[in-house]
Amino acid sequence: MTRENLMEKIVSLAKRRGFVFPSSEIYGGFAAVYDYGHYGTLLKNNIRDAWWEHMVQLRDDMVGLDSAIFMHPTTWVASGHVGSFDDPQIDCRKCKARMRADQVLELYGISADKAPLDFINVELNKLRELGKLACQSCGAKDITPAKRFSLMVKSNLGSPTEALSEENVVYLRPETCGGIYLEYKNTLDSTRVKLPFGIAQIGKAFRNEVVARQFIFRTREFEQMEMQYFLHPKDMKEKYDMWKDIRWNWYLEYGLTKDDLKWYKHEKLAHYASEAYDIEYNFKLLGGFKEVEGIHARGDWDLSQHSKFSGVDLSYFDGETKERFIPHIMETSAGLNRIFLMFLDKAYNEEEINGEKRVVLKFDKRLAPVKVAVFPLLANKPQLVEKAKGIFEDLRQNFMCEFDDNGNVGKRYRRQDEIGTPYCVTVDFQSLEDDTITVRDRDTMKQERIAIKELADYFKKQLED
Ligand code: ATP
Repeated sequence: MTRENLMEKIVSLAKRRGFVFPSSEIYGGFAAVYDYGHYGTLLKNNIRDAWWEHMVQLRDDMVGLDSAIFMHPTTWVASGHVGSFDDPQIDCRKCKARMRADQVLELYGISADKAPLDFINVELNKLRELGKLACQSCGAKDITPAKRFSLMVKSNLGSPTEALSEENVVYLRPETCGGIYLEYKNTLDSTRVKLPFGIAQIGKAFRNEVVARQFIFRTREFEQMEMQYFLHPKDMKEKYDMWKDIRWNWYLEYGLTKDDLKWYKHEKLAHYASEAYDIEYNFKLLGGFKEVEGIHARGDWDLSQHSKFSGVDLSYFDGETKERFIPHIMETSAGLNRIFLMFLDKAYNEEEINGEKRVVLKFDKRLAPVKVAVFPLLANKPQLVEKAKGIFEDLRQNFMCEFDDNGNVGKRYRRQDEIGTPYCVTVDFQSLEDDTITVRDRDTMKQERIAIKELADYFKKQLED
């Protein structure tokens, strides 16, 4: 199966089965924006909860936050985003395709990630002179020089008459961590945390990406799961290594293998950063390794800048050593939608069973949108339906369940396989006699007979293992 083919299949399955819809379809669509349907929302929530459980619930050194998307506009001046959060843009004069110059240079083996514009234009010129620089869409060789394209999404707040004035400009946050820095002091004052500790937050971020494509891999509105860890600079190395391990193992815990992942070390760093690694996943549908999460050592840049611009002292006083200092920060920054795509890519399987094709999403059971589907063998036998409904009502108190009496059992299995449901329960005529049912396993397709009264414990065990 080719990469394009797989992308097409996954996009189509995602729509057909209610995971991801292209936005605003009834108005002809709205490019690179997506909505999450019933099963997509369930899957996304499960991934989000799995991150939160590991990052916050199970840790003593972590607290949570849910800060607003709008923030004081100076936030983004202090952080450097207003001045320099941009990508180099080039355009094809023939077909008007827009491209990111650093990504185009990458195709020619030239690394230009976060490189200065001058460097990018020199490299583009070299390729131009060799007659090699071509549009990625139409192949034409008439390409503009690179210019800076701000990724900040601007909006206006205020009364309608003032609404478009510069003073009323607000930015939709380009990353969620901005709110964490602003609430660092309130968090410190209101919880019992002591350094080193982290603040975790999940929420929307917005970037005016030059090129937003590849389905939900790169969009202009997305969700991040970010954690900022505040520490004394002497602890940076130890904690950085610790978090690299923790984050890497989180992916392994949810079904990825070591071969699916790799580290990418950033050679070019922002002036305040001392180390930056990305975790990359080998996307089958994108044909290679791409970033899903960044792990960055950011020094004292963020709190120093916000101290300077706000005039508020954000230093930390260590009661034991009597030392006062600005904490250094390391962050783990993951994209929820990108990780959603990663799990979809990993889970997608096509198998041949007795000459028939079976499409199955083999999600980790804890991430699967629906855990158990309950069927009466025949929809027109009231006794079977009633018994199946009773089981469904009981099980749904503990897990996301679905009742299905449409079509024949084979069809229902196929539908549940395509949304990745790990277990299907069928109530048949024997159930009426001895209060047992069959449980069919998504991955092995084996069926087991189990007493109805043991079902709740059985699933609790299977789903929590
Ligand atoms: P890229 O190099 O792919 O543009 P980045 O290095 O700018 O990403 P970060 O700023 O480190 O990304 O953001 C952290 C995470 O947020 C990324 O690893 C990714 O998972 C997610 N992310 C960033 N931009 C987008 C986007 N436009 N759409 C979806 N997810 C994104």
